[in-house]
Amino acid sequence: MAPFVAQLGDLCRTYPTRSKWVFVPAHALGRTIGDRLVLAGIDWANLRFVTPFEIALRMGAPFLVERGVDPSEEGLGPALVMRLLLDLPERDGYFRPLASQPSMAAALWSTIRELRMAGVRASDLAVDSFESPHKHAEFVALLTAYESFLMTKGRGDRATVFQEALQHADWCPLQPPDCWTTMPEIVWSPLERLLLTALPGERIVPRSLVLPGVASPRRLQGFPTDRIAPTSSNTLAFLTQSEGASPRPTAEVPSLFHAGSNEAEVEEVFRRILAANVPLDRVEIVCASPAYSPLVWEKALRYDWPVTIAQGVTAAVTRPGRTLLAFTEWIEDGFAAGRLRRMFESGDVRLDDASGIAPGRAGRLLVQAEAAWGRDTHRLALGRLAASARRAAERDDLPPDKREGLKQRATEAEALAAWIDALVKSVPEPDAAGRVDLQAIASSVRSFVSENASRASALDHVAATALGDAIADLEALGSFRCSSGEALRFLRERAESVTIASDRPRPGHLFVSALNVAGLSGRTHVFVVGLEEGRVFPLSIEDPVLLDAERTRVDDSLLRSQDRTEEAVYSALERLAAITADPDTRVTLSYSCRDPREYRQTFPSWVLLQAYRVVSGNAKATFHELQRHFGEPVSIVPDTSADALDESRWWLRGVTRAGESAREALLVRYPRLGAGIAACKRRESPDFTEYDGHVPAAGAVLDPGREGVVISPTQLEEAAECPFRYFLKRGLGVDAIESGERDRDVWLNPLLRGSLLHDLYASLLRRCRTAGRRAGVEIDREWLASEGTRVLAELAVEIPPPSAEIRDRETILLLDDLALFLEAEAVLPEGRTPIGFEVGFGRAAEGDSEPLAQTKPVEIDGGGLTLKIAGRIDRIDQVGPSRFEIIDYKTGEYYAPNWQGTFAGGKRLQHAIYGLAAVELLRREFDPKATVVAAEYYFPSEKGGRERKRIATQPVATVAEVLSDLRQVIASGLFIHSHDEDACKWCQHGLACGRGVQVRAESKLADARLAPIVKLGAHE
Ligand code: SF4
Repeated sequence: MAPFVAQLGDLCRTYPTRSKWVFVPAHALGRTIGDRLVLAGIDWANLRFVTPFEIALRMGAPFLVERGVDPSEEGLGPALVMRLLLDLPERDGYFRPLASQPSMAAALWSTIRELRMAGVRASDLAVDSFESPHKHAEFVALLTAYESFLMTKGRGDRATVFQEALQHADWCPLQPPDCWTTMPEIVWSPLERLLLTALPGERIVPRSLVLPGVASPRRLQGFPTDRIAPTSSNTLAFLTQSEGASPRPTAEVPSLFHAGSNEAEVEEVFRRILAANVPLDRVEIVCASPAYSPLVWEKALRYDWPVTIAQGVTAAVTRPGRTLLAFTEWIEDGFAAGRLRRMFESGDVRLDDASGIAPGRAGRLLVQAEAAWGRDTHRLALGRLAASARRAAERDDLPPDKREGLKQRATEAEALAAWIDALVKSVPEPDAAGRVDLQAIASSVRSFVSENASRASALDHVAATALGDAIADLEALGSFRCSSGEALRFLRERAESVTIASDRPRPGHLFVSALNVAGLSGRTHVFVVGLEEGRVFPLSIEDPVLLDAERTRVDDSLLRSQDRTEEAVYSALERLAAITADPDTRVTLSYSCRDPREYRQTFPSWVLLQAYRVVSGNAKATFHELQRHFGEPVSIVPDTSADALDESRWWLRGVTRAGESAREALLVRYPRLGAGIAACKRRESPDFTEYDGHVPAAGAVLDPGREGVVISPTQLEEAAECPFRYFLKRGLGVDAIESGERDRDVWLNPLLRGSLLHDLYASLLRRCRTAGRRAGVEIDREWLASEGTRVLAELAVEIPPPSAEIRDRETILLLDDLALFLEAEAVLPEGRTPIGFEVGFGRAAEGDSEPLAQTKPVEIDGGGLTLKIAGRIDRIDQVGPSRFEIIDYKTGEYYAPNWQGTFAGGKRLQHAIYGLAAVELLRREFDPKATVVAAEYYFPSEKGGRERKRIATQPVATVAEVLSDLRQVIASGLFIHSHDEDACKWCQHGLACGRGVQVRAESKLADARLAPIVKLGAHE
């Protein structure tokens, strides 16, 4: 048994009724030790586990309360320090300019707290203790502000309580006949030490182990401890002097293993627990690295093993915690729709029941609405989506189910718009100086988490309450204005500092602890996981606030960089030695030799090497020999079927052993795997199969020549470019989901910019048409520039620019392009007159006032094929009597090789189809003899170099042949992948296609069924 526990046992036996006080750093540790005594069969009474703070409170609190001083919330420290730091002047500041660094507040608070518990006040800090007078001045100002906050707000921190307690020795609950001791090897702060040394009663010096070859750390010296020599069979007590250990029976020496990943390591521990056939409450898993406790917790939940975790779980990993963080990031990212959509899709957020919309549906509506970012974007974009769905629902050519679907979409979009609008309004807007009220934003975040965070487990409920309380603690900071980013940092810091479900060992439960408190439970099976080099002990780096030299000058008791490592090492070695002091305890030490998340190899800690030296009896064993001892790393695949933790592991084990012969049975059990393998095989074959997009049944439905189908030239071009994508989008209705990430360097993406330019070109030419004149630089320049500026200002409401610089830069570029366009129009040849602009037909013309526009689709006949076409012609120019040309603006770059040929294998059809459509529109409204003689793709912008690609009007029979070949491809269900890399470059459906798709598609073109594709591609 560990010497201190044995000592307490002796004490209880010697003084069964005497009051025995045991000082521990935390109550949970005291209760753990108490339970352990009971489990060891030691009866105890009047044994009181207390913390020094608890005694200090009992001594000092009555006097503080009498003076109207309330205890300050300890967890609020970083937020309070941040708030005080922000009040200091930024100019010439030392820490103030770094206030935006995420860990700055925590670092400052940790130092202030340490100084306070060392009894150091602002007035004690001499300027020559600091390396820089600037730093001294600012730090003293900060500490003074903290002290004055406590004073003026009537608050007392831990140090206040201790200092008050020290003045009231007569209020101490310990009495002279009592005895007391402290948990050994704990670094108590100076104020705690002062209290302890002032206590009445008999002081019992705590007992611990001598660690051969290890000196006790500086800050433990001078505090009485009775260190006894370990027995030579206490293996882990000799970690740094392995020759001192005597051999033990094989069954008793620590077992060592390594695993291929953290997950495999934890699974191996679980398998060993099952193999040992011991109750869970005989097992403790000690996490040498903090990353392991959530992993063990998740595994235990997965296998339904009851578990308690000494260090608890951070609330940030629960649903309410994730919701809080995501909500603050959404606000900080300017209410970007992509982030909101991801929140909905995560399942962490629920809309209130009144909205009647499932979160997944809300996410899809946001995508359809094309909301961008900003306070108004969701309301405006969803409002537009609702209006357009309502308009579409009024069309009389719709089947009833589609009409109902559109109405439903409109209702949901409106409800979602209202919900988001209310949410956005609940977040306070920064004032003219860019500041918000911290309490107002805290209240908004708090109510969002309380009302909208999902709760799928008891832990989520606990986290939601704890987070709400943590945010409410901010009220103690009082009314305070700061930048929105700073306010959100306050809130995130609160969320990240909340730990929940921290618990002591419980009957029937697995227990998870950390290295510095390992083994106190006295459990017989201890697994120490995560012993990876570089992760177990903190590095010996200086404190970012007070350097070692400054700390030495201020107060010798303050933690220095070397203390940090020495104390952690000593504490870990002391705990390991205490564990093996009991010969019945089985210890297993392990690490993971790979970090799959960082794709890197990892190495064992020196603790493992020393353990191996002890185990092997070879005091000079090397890391190389240790690795040989380890052999193959364990994986999640168990060694035997009987060790499998669940069915999937059982199958993995079976498949690893049986190899190919397990295939049949495996595919019977997991038929979807079989379907996937069959699909891959078929795709790899030279045949054109259903897995390559051969879907004749869909062809019949998507046939553009089918009765009632109205199609646009863009859709037809898309079908020719990649039939597979056409099938995904138009056949299956699969929309690729954008990443949702905002490009913070761009305001007007190419699509948006192009659309604005199209509208502005049309506005200019309509103005000239109304005035019956041609465009002129002098007469139109100013108007066009102000129109462009106005349109951009309106846009900025719905989609705010990322910054003023970006807004100015992109405004100038857009206005320059408008000026270029105007210059070109001013010198238009005499015989050319623009007559129609953005001329819509079919559904594209709804609400269109252009004289040539019509709401009916245009019917194109050719070679027995009739297509109903909807679309919008950018511009129609009259170039002679009954002679017209159509123009299609391109607002991007001009790259000549992409503009070779006429039809580009069906990928360029607008000129031909719009040419035919324009004839019909012109003859109906304008000139019964109208003919279209040519089409032009015009690149009027700076980027496009004012290039024009001119295509003479093609014979109707030629156009009809191309369209007929394209229709044949669609109607036959030949939805093959594109074999053109350019088509795939910006495609967002690529995940459905896999790697090397173009080569695979090309190799299938020999399949006779794909003859129509080959024929279509031949139309140059
Ligand atoms: S990635 Fe290429 S093949 Fe796949 S859908 Fe997109 S364009 Fe077609």
